[in-house]
Amino acid sequence: MPYTVPKLTDFSTIALDGAVRELLSALDQESAAVASENEWKVYRDWWMARKNGVLTQLNDLWLKAAPGPSKKDVGQRVNELRGTVEAKVLATKERCATLSIARSIVEQGQPMIDLARAFVEAAEKSGGRILSNEEALQKAERLDITLPGIRRPLGAEHPVIKTMNEIVSVFRNLGYSVEEGPEIETDYYNFEALNFPPNHPARDTQDTLFIAGQESKTLRDRLLLRTHTSPVQIRTMEKIKPPVRVVCPGKVHRNDAPDATHSPVFHQVEGLAVDTNITFCDLKGTLDHAMKALFGSSVKTRFYPSFFPFTEPSADVQISCIFCGGKGTRDGGPCRNCKASGWIELLGCGMVDPNVYGFVDYDPAKVSGFAFGMGVERIAILKYGVDDIQLFFNGDVRFLEQFG
Ligand SMILES: [Zn+2]
Repeated sequence: MPYTVPKLTDFSTIALDGAVRELLSALDQESAAVASENEWKVYRDWWMARKNGVLTQLNDLWLKAAPGPSKKDVGQRVNELRGTVEAKVLATKERCATLSIARSIVEQGQPMIDLARAFVEAAEKSGGRILSNEEALQKAERLDITLPGIRRPLGAEHPVIKTMNEIVSVFRNLGYSVEEGPEIETDYYNFEALNFPPNHPARDTQDTLFIAGQESKTLRDRLLLRTHTSPVQIRTMEKIKPPVRVVCPGKVHRNDAPDATHSPVFHQVEGLAVDTNITFCDLKGTLDHAMKALFGSSVKTRFYPSFFPFTEPSADVQISCIFCGGKGTRDGGPCRNCKASGWIELLGCGMVDPNVYGFVDYDPAKVSGFAFGMGVERIAILKYGVDDIQLFFNGDVRFLEQFG
């Protein structure tokens, strides 16, 4: 019975030593039994055939099956075995060739001188290999430290996570702590406590992904995929009395069809600061600093009136276009990135609406604060010049490894 590769379950050094010993002994025995060129071909295919040869099976049954920590050891052994098997198969072929020359000489009854000449010719034809078989074998059995090892690709942070961490670290340096919350939220935390009126369009299934089959629950207890990380702000204020300074990074969901600028899943970083005497000036100073930290010290910010149910007054923040330096023109034409306006809208913010304090038992007469929120993908797109938000979620390694 020719050798068959056993399936390994034990990858300890002792078990591997045993398995290698068994393989080498079978390799020698089978080689010794080869007596003709046809037998050699069968032997070669059994050990080296690309499709199901022993060497191929070693890759599948030993190397691929090896658990992480054993991979290096098994890989080295499989590499060494490959060299040994190849050399042995070659050596066996040359032994067969020598043997067949000798046989034909014996059969033809030539004198010794012809035998010697035939050997020399055969040796010359094979580039001297006949006479140096054993040497070649020894060489192959030696460990060649110049052979390339097993390359394991290094992982890297996903560009979205990388950007999210950068944003968070800007606020950590300002003394903010990080809070996280559940991605499946109740209507209460996602809308009601944030001052969304009961018939606000965001509560419609057009914009929000609700969990099915909850008709028996009251509206405020119904579960949904959070549409922003703002519920974490409510949960934090329920836990902590002012002063509060937190950023809430996380994944959010909206009922949007995917296209170059929309994705049903994306990420936000929201921030909240509540203390005595916090004013809109603090908000402006904080966000101006954060935008300069993220996009460079030459970036300017401006605040535009806006509306959010949970802040009053509310503002959209724009930064001067990082592509055209705020000029609105680039390379002699209008700047595409800012639609020639010189400004790019980036995030929403505002002073926390006093109604919100009522839900978390803060006294609006004593405390004030601000909140802001930004889309992580939006910032990553600007920072890295990405033109399609879907690239972040397709999992194409060629795209992702550029950020490694
Ligand atoms: Zn521009």
